[in-house]
Amino acid sequence: MADDSPVKSQQLPSHTHIAIVGSGFSGLGAAVNLEEAGHRDFVVLERGDDVGGTWRDNTYPGAACDVPSHLYSYSFALNPNWTRSFSTQPEIEEYIRRVGRRAGVLDRHVFGCAVTRAVWREERRHWELSTSHGTMTADVLIGAFGALAEPSLPDIPGIDDFDGALFHSAQWDHDADLTGKRVAVIGTGASAIQLVPAIADTVSHIDVYQRTAPWLLPRFDRPFTRVERWAFRNIPGVLRLARAGIYAARETQVVGLAKNPRLMKAFELISRAKIRTEIKDPELRRKVTPNFRIGCKRMLIANDWYPALDREHVDLITEGIREVDGSAIVTKDGTAREVDAIIVATGFHVTDSPMFDRICGSDGRSLSQTFADKGMRAYKGTTVAGYPNLFVLVGPNTGLGHTSMVYMIESQLNYIVDAVNTMKSRGITRIDVRQDVQDAYNDELQRKLAGSVWMTGGCASWYLDAHGNNTTLWPDFTFRFRRQTRRFDLDSYETSLDIDASTARAKGTVRGFN
Ligand code: NAP
Repeated sequence: MADDSPVKSQQLPSHTHIAIVGSGFSGLGAAVNLEEAGHRDFVVLERGDDVGGTWRDNTYPGAACDVPSHLYSYSFALNPNWTRSFSTQPEIEEYIRRVGRRAGVLDRHVFGCAVTRAVWREERRHWELSTSHGTMTADVLIGAFGALAEPSLPDIPGIDDFDGALFHSAQWDHDADLTGKRVAVIGTGASAIQLVPAIADTVSHIDVYQRTAPWLLPRFDRPFTRVERWAFRNIPGVLRLARAGIYAARETQVVGLAKNPRLMKAFELISRAKIRTEIKDPELRRKVTPNFRIGCKRMLIANDWYPALDREHVDLITEGIREVDGSAIVTKDGTAREVDAIIVATGFHVTDSPMFDRICGSDGRSLSQTFADKGMRAYKGTTVAGYPNLFVLVGPNTGLGHTSMVYMIESQLNYIVDAVNTMKSRGITRIDVRQDVQDAYNDELQRKLAGSVWMTGGCASWYLDAHGNNTTLWPDFTFRFRRQTRRFDLDSYETSLDIDASTARAKGTVRGFN
């Protein structure tokens, strides 16, 4: 099958053993890993028309990854053909599509299928799913809906009545012709700093609305030479070596970020030097210099952001936005700036994903209701007490700013596949993580986070929830997460057995059942 061949969507089954919601890096990875472990009875429900998740959706100009591709890829599908050190969105999307087609799991995908509700039915011990294609049930539910999937739109008075093109960076309107247009970009996060330089030559003017200046570091991006690509393809071990080198180099950042924030000062010096060399205008230098410790918010890497801001036809506006009036954005000082298009690059609903409203556990409460008291909490970022047979990929405190999320996803996948295998081999039909185990796990996480730069660095970031808790980031070396998730720890769970497993129960081979 050609790599770009169209996918054929399957019918929604009435029941499946395992339902996976979403087919980005995590959901597709789950499908491939389950298939390899010999599980055939699963279905992937994907609201889009192909695999790829965030890399399918974020098609804004300049979109690229901040983690080198030799690390930001599946360990089971290393790619010797990456064309450059930091791949662009089209190349990553193409990679994921190719993995999906080659792994032979697309025949278990239902595309264009949005899950609107998932309710655990205790009496039947299964999940009942409502989807845009109808209803179905599943014994096990894997939530792979992603943390960066639901665009967050700014609540600016009048913006809905704006007289021009208006879209989010993650929902780029490719029909909107920006040639020669006056454009406003709201936000200066990872997406904005890529798209502004990419459209700067096309448009006549850009107003960039900055609420908080980000810290920037150099981007060591370059095309691979032909010799390097030949070596990646032909010399055994070179790809793995490259990957290990990138992994080790990135992991050293954890020492400063999580353990000793004072060490981050060295990065600040590099970033300040970058501002001095890349911007001529002293007033602009002042505006782009952050007022918090580097690392507190995600550190960004770019070589074209400051030069773009320094251009004649690009203005950085730091007065807050008051409203949108007709075709003008009005700042709090009363200045109105006319534009033809507004691009909102304001990030995603991470700690308040709409999917949390749709998943209801054994007491009927949604994940949002459960998370309302203390914020998002899970065990090993994967299971949540009161939500039997649910596994969440990229769940609470599994996020990273410095290295590859694919590494965390594959760690979770080890754990989930081992859990499913364990359930099958022991005749267990229901697992639910013990509340005391989950609480102890989270207390330890928060203790580790307390001294980190994300908590002490003096910034507000999407890493923190409404309670000020950091429920998004993993606060340690990632190999420690890999170690924690190597095996499914049945003792941490309350379990129920299949009726057919009564013999095993009589023999006492299953621990902790109720
Ligand atoms: P983001 O990092 O959350 O940045 C959102 C930006 O919008 C921030 O500058 C924020 O300001 C601003 N903003 C939010 N609401 C606003 C409002 N109401 N008025 C004015 N400004 C507002 O979002 P993102 O840039 O889309 O990136 C999200 C995440 O996606 C990244 O952290 C990263 O994990 C991932 N990502 C990665 C890459 C990459 O690998 N290269 C590229 C894009 C995205 P404040 O700082 O003041 O909140």
